[in-house]
Amino acid sequence: MPAPQCASCHEARAALRRPRSGQALCATCFCTAFEAEVLHTVVAGRLLPPGAVVAVGASGGKDSTVLAHVLRELAPRLGISLHLVAVDEGIGGYRDAALAAVRRQAARWELPLTVVAYAELFGGWTMDAVARSTAGSGRSRSCCTFCGVLRRRALEEGARRVAATHVVTGHNADDMAETVLMNFLRGDAGRLARGGGLGSPGEGGALPRCRPLQLASQKEVVLYAHFRRLDYFSEECVYAPEAFRGHARELLKLLEAARPSAVLDLVHSAERLALAPAARPPPPGACSRCGALASRALCQACALLDGLNRGRPRLAIGKGRRGLDEEGPPGGRGSHSRPDPRLRSPSPASRDSSSPLGSDDVGVRGRL
Ligand code: SF4
Repeated sequence: MPAPQCASCHEARAALRRPRSGQALCATCFCTAFEAEVLHTVVAGRLLPPGAVVAVGASGGKDSTVLAHVLRELAPRLGISLHLVAVDEGIGGYRDAALAAVRRQAARWELPLTVVAYAELFGGWTMDAVARSTAGSGRSRSCCTFCGVLRRRALEEGARRVAATHVVTGHNADDMAETVLMNFLRGDAGRLARGGGLGSPGEGGALPRCRPLQLASQKEVVLYAHFRRLDYFSEECVYAPEAFRGHARELLKLLEAARPSAVLDLVHSAERLALAPAARPPPPGACSRCGALASRALCQACALLDGLNRGRPRLAIGKGRRGLDEEGPPGGRGSHSRPDPRLRSPSPASRDSSSPLGSDDVGVRGRL
């Protein structure tokens, strides 16, 4: 049976049915509609004001590739300029190939690119070194816990180096729904409350962050990359299979099969969550070591590096967060007011590498 006519232009044959609406569109009309929807997300949410210098977290994967491509298309209309910022976590057999994809994109699209590396920012710690230190093997279940925290810090640092005013990341609706599910499963009310909305306005001196693809489904991101013939890196990080996120993803697939709107319903429900006063986390203060926003004496990145350097790597996420407090130095929060290069720490080679780690991931599959 021949493909139906495109429901938008009524000229070309349809190349797909949109997963959510069932609308039959040709490739050109689908890509135009996808870009218009991202534009609407940015404009309606006032995410990127005219004049913004936008650091695009670029991992080489499909989401950040699509994000960079769409924003490049929209940049003249939005009046923004773009700078790709890639993070090299130091993951052998994975990140080098992904970074090569980012370099090709930067060259093809004539966008400036800055790469920041964990090893440089965090005193020699790479993710492979963290994995060896935390589990005694290269494939720790908890790697994403560490990586998610460090990657957020590294992207912020990279964005500051290029004088960016805003940071954007490629999280799509499926990623956000998985995160909501994970936070529910952990009973992490604080993260649930913070996780709604399209981004953060930049509390505590951090740069404003947003996720322009947050309402786009993963399937449509893949379709857009396909029809635009985008060159991206599609292999999975070597540490991803052990991440807790994989369980949330499987659960989400089951939910979506029973209720196709489950992904967006979860995203929107997180936006509308309101915590009872007794459940609200205390207002965040400043990390006593680096000055970044922190809900404990040390921010998560400093607590994590402190534990690694002492051979006691622990990071608690969710309800039982004693690990951070126990590992924090005396003196409490607020004694320093600005980010501090002392976040850098001694070489991992000199540390005891035997301590176990007992927590789950906060990372997002090689995505920035
Ligand atoms: Fe880091 Fe992502 Fe790999 Fe986890 S899957 S270790 S968060 S790059």
